[in-house]
Amino acid sequence: MKAAKAINHIGIAVTSINEQRDFYEKTLGAIFEGVEVVADQKVKVGFFRVGDVRLELLEPTDPTSTVAAFIEKRGPGLHHVAYTVEDLPARIAELQGDGVRMIDATPRKGAHNTQIAFLHPKSSCGVLTELCEPKGHH
Ligand code: ZN
Repeated sequence: MKAAKAINHIGIAVTSINEQRDFYEKTLGAIFEGVEVVADQKVKVGFFRVGDVRLELLEPTDPTSTVAAFIEKRGPGLHHVAYTVEDLPARIAELQGDGVRMIDATPRKGAHNTQIAFLHPKSSCGVLTELCEPKGHH
């Protein structure tokens, strides 16, 4: 079985990236890397780097976004943890073979030129878990 290589990023649901920027940048000392819109997921993503790990602030751009539903239900806060993997389709097949439920049975496009797939929270003890395969450099 292919192990996860690293924590790729931590996703945090926010109502406004701009309002949180000072906290992450000035208060915590994370390095702001920019904002990207992921149209598929109806979110705007703000990136902050802390050492080797990136924080991904997720701001819904539409009320039908799953992140909007998350904030509605649970309030802003920790949304998901993403692990770096190689060969994402093979990894998904391995997990499914182990009986793990997936939200994404096939990889989809994430921010920063990555392919991603989410595990079902029922299979990951309530922590939304993302597998993330970097594609090339950014
Ligand atoms: Zn993510």
